[in-house]
Amino acid sequence: MSRRKIIAGNWKMNQTPSEAVELVKTLAPLVQNPDVDVVYCVPAIDIIPVREAIKGSNVRLGAENVHFEDKGAFTGEISPKMLKDAGVEYVIIGHSERRQYFGETDQTVNKKLLKLIEYGFRPIVCCGETLEQREAGITMDWINMQIKIAFSGVSAQQAKDVVIAYEPIWAIGTGKTATTGQAEEICGGIRRTIAGLYGEATAEAIRIQYGGSMNAANCKELLSQANIDGGLIGGASLKPDFGTIVHYQKA
Ligand code: PEP
Repeated sequence: MSRRKIIAGNWKMNQTPSEAVELVKTLAPLVQNPDVDVVYCVPAIDIIPVREAIKGSNVRLGAENVHFEDKGAFTGEISPKMLKDAGVEYVIIGHSERRQYFGETDQTVNKKLLKLIEYGFRPIVCCGETLEQREAGITMDWINMQIKIAFSGVSAQQAKDVVIAYEPIWAIGTGKTATTGQAEEICGGIRRTIAGLYGEATAEAIRIQYGGSMNAANCKELLSQANIDGGLIGGASLKPDFGTIVHYQKA
């Protein structure tokens, strides 16, 4: 089965609303590739201006986080209902920075995933190991656990439309990329985990991204691997390099 590639930018806490609109304009001519899904996951305050700026283009709108309740006394949070009303399609959950700095756990990732599915979003579920875990030889055990908890209560039919982003924490924002072999090995392992949970058809359908210092120079090799169906890109998503990644076949 050939899975459609998905190249998603994770802008993090970087663009003011006016800078965001400028960035969309700069990238517009560079990111037109009808063969891949292109997504900008942007800070909450940028969602509306970016939605307007990408109108009529191939770019899809994404958020970087969501709360798992529909509404209520959660000061400073953004509900799935708000994101839906604002026109968001994709939502990143479980990013390692949310886990490290904001108390995200596999259990809250699970609650968020169930909520995103209920609302009809396309979730991007992040997982990944620390350097210590890799060196201790427990990478796949750790990721298996993350995936199994995150997908608890999710059906096979629902799971196939979820995107999983494998992001080794030691490779995020460090300039240290996993080798192509390391990235492919773990993405293949995640696919086997999904096969164990849901069967081969779901495992063949689900898209698995690699994330961690992907850039214009290393994207072609990474994205040519059998089990890597796209990239979640931080730093390089704010630069023209993102256009090169979108056109990785020619990189
Ligand atoms: C990320 O934050 O998801 C990421 C992969 O960042 P970077 O590309 O900067 O390593």
